[in-house]
Order: sequence, then structure tokens, then C-alpha cells
Amino acid sequence: MRTPAGFDCKYFYGDYYRGNNREECRLINHPINETPWTRDLCSQCPVPRILLANACPNMEMDAHVVKHFLGLRKQVVIHSYCTFSKKDVAEPEIGCGKCHEIPPMAVQKEEK
Ligand code: SF4
Repeated sequence: MRTPAGFDCKYFYGDYYRGNNREECRLINHPINETPWTRDLCSQCPVPRILLANACPNMEMDAHVVKHFLGLRKQVVIHSYCTFSKKDVAEPEIGCGKCHEIPPMAVQKEEK
């Protein structure tokens, strides 16, 4: 679904049917998140960019909101994990690379 910032995000849900005006982020609105989601967070959120760059079905993400500068500025922080390699993914746009490894026969050997 398209976020208020204009990006497609599978975690955004908006219900505008019959006068409803309910919006939620199904990634951030988790009981462990102390700071609740607000629609303005979508404009700076890295998740739509990550989903566009990496469609790996093994990568899971969780997100929370971090406050900066006396709580005035809020930011979405992502943590990603690969269920296949069982490792944290440092660059979620790229992935951990485990399921896209280059076969040894395709690697060009260095000439001496
Ligand atoms: S905050 Fe991020 S993950 Fe949540 S709906 Fe907006 S773009 Fe998607």
C-alpha cells in the first residue's frame, strides 16, 4: 500500500472506507516499541527503499523509533536478520549474500 509519503510499503495499512481514516505501520506498531508510529515517519523511513532493492524472502526486519535532539526529531531504525544464514544483515539493501553466492567455477582465477 502507498504510504502518506508516496512510497509503496507492504507494512503500511490505511483504512479510508466509509469515512474511516485509520492508518498504521505494521512493522513499527509492535507492543515492544515505546515510541508509537506517526505518519510523518514514512517520509524518512528506509524500509520502502530496502524492499525495492532486496526482495529476499529469508530476510526479516524489525524497526523502532529513535528520538534525537531532546526528543524533537524522530527516526526509524531498522534491524534486519537472515533466517537462512542465521546472521544479522549489515546492509539490508544488499542482503547477507549467502543465498546468492557465486559458484567457484564462475570465479576467474588470477594469472601468475
Ligand atoms: S514507517 Fe516505514 S515501514 Fe512503516 S509504513 Fe512507513 S514506510 Fe513503511
